[in-house]
Amino acid sequence: MGEQREDGYDDLLDAIESNTGYYLSCPAGHGSLPPRQVCPTCGDDDLSTEPLPDTGTVVTFTEIAVPAPAFTGQTPVVVIADFGPVRLTGRLVDDSDALEVGSEVVPTVATSPDGGRHIGARLVSER
Ligand SMILES: [Zn+2]
Repeated sequence: MGEQREDGYDDLLDAIESNTGYYLSCPAGHGSLPPRQVCPTCGDDDLSTEPLPDTGTVVTFTEIAVPAPAFTGQTPVVVIADFGPVRLTGRLVDDSDALEVGSEVVPTVATSPDGGRHIGARLVSER
């Protein structure tokens, strides 16, 4: 514990960065994100790795009015989007003017000013 690199989560970020994002699926089709040993919905431990859909649909989003110190000077917008059977929570890396519920987003890796990496979302241009 206390390692800089989080097993599973950082692997996922690496995969998203190279456009090979994935999620875990149990035999019943419940999706979850690594790191997981068992399905969080039904407890099955027979998890397989499935490719993450290219785009997701924004379910809701929140503007963080009082950001963490690492985001000083920014007003992060966090979006929650459905990617097939999994739901990703990520920071919007684009301007939020065009963002609305139902917007299409692609997963990406966002970097905070202190160098930390986390899941991000980029709006799919309709042009
Ligand atoms: Zn399951």
